[in-house]
Order: sequence, then C-alpha cells, then structure tokens
Amino acid sequence: MSATPTDAEFSLIDRIRARALSRDDVVLGIGDDAALLRPPSDRELVVAMDTLNAGVHFPDDASPADIGWKALAVNLSDLAAMGAEPAWCTLSLSLPRADSDWVDGFLDGFSDLAKMHRVALVGGDTTRGPLSICITAHGFVKPGRAMRRDSARVGDDVWITGTLGDAAAALALRGLGANASLARAHNIGSREEEACSREVLEARLARPQPRVEIGYVIASFATSCIDISDGLLADLGHIARASGVGMSIASDALTASAELRFFFDTDARSTLQFRGGDDYELGFTAPPSARDVVQEVGHTSGVSITRIGAVTERTGVRALDVNGDEVTVSGQGFQHFASDTTAGR
Ligand code: ADP
Ligand code: MG
Repeated sequence: MSATPTDAEFSLIDRIRARALSRDDVVLGIGDDAALLRPPSDRELVVAMDTLNAGVHFPDDASPADIGWKALAVNLSDLAAMGAEPAWCTLSLSLPRADSDWVDGFLDGFSDLAKMHRVALVGGDTTRGPLSICITAHGFVKPGRAMRRDSARVGDDVWITGTLGDAAAALALRGLGANASLARAHNIGSREEEACSREVLEARLARPQPRVEIGYVIASFATSCIDISDGLLADLGHIARASGVGMSIASDALTASAELRFFFDTDARSTLQFRGGDDYELGFTAPPSARDVVQEVGHTSGVSITRIGAVTERTGVRALDVNGDEVTVSGQGFQHFASDTTAGR
C-alpha cells in the first residue's frame, strides 16, 4: 500500500467491492477513478464526513466489526441530524498492514448498518498508516427542509431522542475516559443482572443506532437539530449559539436507562447524561404546537422522545436542578457536576 498500488491493496479493494451494496442512482461505483452518481433533481445534497482514529475514537481492543459499524453510524447520525435520507458513502481506510481478516470483520459491521439504511459504498481510498477510518456520507433532503443549528426560536420546546449517558457509562465502567472515577451505585443486584446491564451499555458505546428515520420525519416541523456526540450541554450549546438564543434544561426530565440506573446513582448519572458524549441521539427544538406529533413519532419509531426544556431569550444553556435552582453551564461542559457532590439530588 505504497504510492504505487500493490497486489495486497487491490485484493483489499476487491474484497470491499464484492460486498458493497449498490443502488439504481449509482451510475458507476467502485473501480474507476471516481464514482458517478445521479442525485434526484428535486432534492438538496447533504454531505457529512467523520473520522475515527484508533485509541481516540474507539478503544484499541475494539473488534473490527464494531469499528465498521460505528464508523458508518457516526456519519449517518450527522445526516439524521440534518433530516436527510442517506444514499451513498465513500470510505478512506488507513491500515497498518494489508490485513484481509481485519477488513472482512470491518465489512461485517459496516455492511449490517449500510443494509439497514440502504447506503451504497461508491468509492474510497486504501493506504498504509496508523489505523484510521474516514467516511463521507451523502444524503438528500427536500429543498429548504434541512434542520440547521441556527434556527431555534424563543419559546420552542427542547427534545431529545432515547436515553443519554449509556455510552459514557460503558467507558467509565472500563475505567476509561473523563468519568472513570465516578462513584458507583451501592445496592447493585445479582451477577447476572450486572453482566446483562454491562452488555447493554457496551453495545450502546460500540454500536450506536443513528436516528435516521426520526430525523427524516421531524424535519417537517423541527426548527433546529443536532446529534449528541460531545455531551448534551456542549451540543445544545452549539444550537443556542448559532441561533442567538439560550435554553433552560430540567435535569429531572432526562430519563435514564435501567442499565445506567443499575450502575450509577443520581449525581453520577447527571454527569454522564449531561456531559458524557458518544450518545448519537438527536437533540432538537420544535414549537409547542408540535407536541402531539412528536409523541406520535416516538410511538411509531419505538424510541422514547422526551421534552427536556425550552428555548429562552437569555443566552447560554442553563440546567435547572430538581429544586428549580439554576446552574450556570460553561462552554466547556457542565462545570457544576464536576465539583458538586451534594447528596439527595
Ligand atoms: P486511484 O489510484 O485512481 O485513486 P485506487 O486504486 O485508489 O484508484 O482505487 C481504485 C478504486 O477503488 C476506486 O474506484 C476507489 O474509489 C476504490 N476504492 C479504493 N479504496 C477503497 C475503499 N477503502 N473503499 C471503497 N472503495 C475504495
Ligand atoms: Mg486512490
């Protein structure tokens, strides 16, 4: 895999090509100098790119299949946050050596998710270097319908899909990340329960489910949207700043998964849910008139969608604790929970 392509490189590309899903709108996929694609004439093209580096974006011992899934998932999550319907992607693989077993494993996870969302792999690049995966994902949205960060309005509700904190909890349980030293719950149950709960949290870290269908549906009424990858407060802060508004978030409105509750008490849960990251849920704003339809979307999709706060004129994202006390949130995250150890919250 030097500047001159080797047999090993071509054999890896052949493996990838053999398993790439195609679609009618792919005129020419893997194999030429570039792909030829036919976007619908009545849609805007949405393009997202995300890179995963070994040791930074996934643990060194992550399985190739999990890496393949996650590399595509984080990109589809960006498309979901725009309200786009996914269509195509390209894949840049940097590998320490031409390891066909690794590539086969990677393609197992990647293809499972690609099939679920009908994403065609139409090209890419394969090089030698430290393990790194970069994917560009392309999708379509009706003109003017994309959910942007700069259009939240004062008085809107703030919503999130699913539950937050689970992926960060999995990392913390492994003794990794910023939350490794968080206190665990005392009254933990049986060994079986513990193993099951840990497995669920691990799956949320390794195999995030991009909320593609939900993003596509809410685009017709949501005023702004973002996918939660860096922590709820940090990411809502992006919407607030871009829109020139603020938000108040009721911390007790955040639902926690049973698995998160199994391992962590209220204080630790708040930290994980507000600051954790790696959730790949959607945070969005919508006018109060959309409440019924949001509930319906939650019902239809089988994913809980929770109203957690409101868009305010006063700038900044503020969390309100269960006592209704305001907690100032810095741009870096949720400082209050970093230092506060008040019990009984
Ligand atoms: P070139 O030298 O013209 O860039 P390459 O040998 O890099 O061609 O790639 C040959 C074909 O294989 C191209 O169509 C390219 O898009 C595709 N390709 C290379 N690597 C990947 C990959 N990791 N995933 C998908 N397609 C790939
Ligand atoms: Mg190339």
